[in-house]
Amino acid sequence: MCAVGTGPGDLRAEVRFSTTTPQETIGQAIRFFRQQQEKEPLAAIGIASFGPVDPNPASPTFGYITTTPKPGWAHTDFAGAIRRALGVPVGFDTDVNVAALGEHRWGAAQGLDTFIYLTIGTGIGGGGIINGQLIHGLLHPEMGHIRIPHDWDSDPYPGCCPYHGDCLEGLAAGPAMEGRWGQPADTLPADHPAWPLEAHYLALSLVNFICTLSPQRIIMGGGVMQQQQLFPLVRREVQELLGGYIQATMILERIDDYIVPPGLGNRAGVLGAIALAQQTA
Ligand code: ZN
Repeated sequence: MCAVGTGPGDLRAEVRFSTTTPQETIGQAIRFFRQQQEKEPLAAIGIASFGPVDPNPASPTFGYITTTPKPGWAHTDFAGAIRRALGVPVGFDTDVNVAALGEHRWGAAQGLDTFIYLTIGTGIGGGGIINGQLIHGLLHPEMGHIRIPHDWDSDPYPGCCPYHGDCLEGLAAGPAMEGRWGQPADTLPADHPAWPLEAHYLALSLVNFICTLSPQRIIMGGGVMQQQQLFPLVRREVQELLGGYIQATMILERIDDYIVPPGLGNRAGVLGAIALAQQTA
């Protein structure tokens, strides 16, 4: 998705197309922005990319997609191609870190200095802000690939992560639900046993993130979280798994305000990219 604007109330142009080869996809983005540049100058571009990526501006491979299994995309100089074609400063980060930035600026994380944003869809990813800074470090977080307890008796599905099998993403992303139940997740009825199991896996991951990062809020987006019945199940299970140990009002009494959908809906990513561009300009 490509867009031009300054914020939620000012999106002047946008276009959406499928991700195919790097050459074709990046080429389409460049054509769109060149057309926009003919109307008015662009100050900067912010890119919210699927990963893994190199988000370190000091690295020689900054702005590259690195080891992705997505065909043709490994070792693609994404940010560099955009910068060379359009001649403007380019900010670059993971899709989830950028969505977190959007939620911080205009959505459900305004005023917070430590929170995480998770997306549960075709994959599982997590990003966020800690002490006011987007989370980086060695590379960037890979919250979807943490290992969680897997009871093989109650859930014999082996998981589908090509790297780990039954990591969180391998057990709980959309493709895992489809693999386990034999039909796409969005066609499973709201009272199907798939949902309590899904909530169980997601809650296991959340208690790990709560115990390690102490987020002030957890935002959960992505296609699977469109199933609104998941939120109450996840919240209840998080409280049960924590067992009253973390003495925080947000968890004990206000969990409906603690584990929430994105305030920007499915626009957190594109609006976050605008926020990133504004920081980069
Ligand atoms: Zn994995």
